[in-house]
Amino acid sequence: MEVIVIGGGIGGAATALSLSRAGIDFAVCERTKTLREVGAGIALWANATHVLQNLGVLETAIRVGYPATNYQFNSQQGKELVNVDLDCFELPAIGIHRAELHQLLWRNVPSGKFILGETFDRFERKNNKINACFASGLQVAGDAFIGADGLRSRVRACILGDKPPTYRNFKTWRGLTECVPTKYRSGYIQEFLGCGKAFGFMMLGKGKMYWYAAATAPEAQPDAAIGRKKELETMYQDWFPAIPELIAATDEADILTADLYDRPPIQLWSRENITLLGDAAHPMLPTMGQGACTALEDALVVAKCLQAQPNPSLAFQQYESLRFPRTKAIVGASLRSSKIGRLSDPLAVELRNIFMKVMGSAISNSFKSLHTYRA
Ligand SMILES: Cc1cc2nc3c(=O)[nH]c(=O)nc-3n(C[C@H](O)[C@H](O)[C@H](O)COP(=O)(O)OP(=O)(O)OC[C@H]3O[C@@H](n4cnc5c(N)ncnc54)[C@H](O)[C@@H]3O)c2cc1C
Repeated sequence: MEVIVIGGGIGGAATALSLSRAGIDFAVCERTKTLREVGAGIALWANATHVLQNLGVLETAIRVGYPATNYQFNSQQGKELVNVDLDCFELPAIGIHRAELHQLLWRNVPSGKFILGETFDRFERKNNKINACFASGLQVAGDAFIGADGLRSRVRACILGDKPPTYRNFKTWRGLTECVPTKYRSGYIQEFLGCGKAFGFMMLGKGKMYWYAAATAPEAQPDAAIGRKKELETMYQDWFPAIPELIAATDEADILTADLYDRPPIQLWSRENITLLGDAAHPMLPTMGQGACTALEDALVVAKCLQAQPNPSLAFQQYESLRFPRTKAIVGASLRSSKIGRLSDPLAVELRNIFMKVMGSAISNSFKSLHTYRA
């Protein structure tokens, strides 16, 4: 069996490594000319480090990342609301640069397996076999196809023909700096919730501090005339002191923005010998930090299903039945959590903070139940 993976991001690279470890022949077709990840940091919880362990790359991930012991939610002034203990699993949680994660996945795959600079366009049926057709005119035949081509998946559009993803009325800014703020608590991923705005930061490997901010905004809102950095400095000037410190220490050029989308998880995503994975299958808001983690889980599960079942259509049915309920629950939880984080009325925010403090252990357990899953 030869599997064609379309898209070589975190999900596609993890699929390549999983297929390689399972002894299944494959090729990955990626539209960029070099394998690279842009973006900043990422949190990998125990459910994801379990996948890295299975793929034999956890030790390297720990070496290039930074272990996280606690996930703490605070008011905008830094009053603790919830503290999730991450040290209670047999596996660590880590903060890691996206490029480091991406590299440690594809570097362990034989290099000839990546076809770069090829943008997938459509499928064509020829003599009872399906070919993937690319913008360049290239056609690639395979026994099974996996669309790992992200939020605006072309593979998804071809097999499901559904609408574009849903904008959820908020945007993010992400930054990287070497500044460690004065009040940083070692091993803590800290988030701060205010009125219609939030801020978080965590340590990555190699002394890098990763921070992210989120605020309600209309879709495709341009940068403020004063520039990203100045806008953020104004938005967060009276927040917990580490926050303005981190923004001030970051170069404007290292601040990225993105609008946030998901898709209501209402339909299955496989058609015969074609399936989807990662953001192509189940894009979610980043509020639970599970997008890349669930893409890693998908990668391991789809390879196991293909290893156990030589008929790819049946293997994909099995894969989907294992993955749909879990990812549906996480897409929903991420959306609910974004609504709580986005409250902007000061009274509602005060009540939210009281609620979070009182319900701390229940909230903590709901996070832990996601991290307990082992693909
Ligand atoms: C602000 C923010 C913070 C986040 N934080 C976290 C976190 O802490 N933890 C976490 O687990 N997740 C997090 N996520 C989510 C995570 O980034 C995504 O879920 C993850 O990157 C999805 O990986 P993917 O491989 O499915 O898609 P992508 O990373 O989008 O990769 C898709 C790949 O397909 C290629 N491609 C696209 N179209 C084509 C085509 N037509 N032909 C060929 N190739 C194509 C692209 O070039 C790309 O390489 C965050 C997301 C955001 C926006």
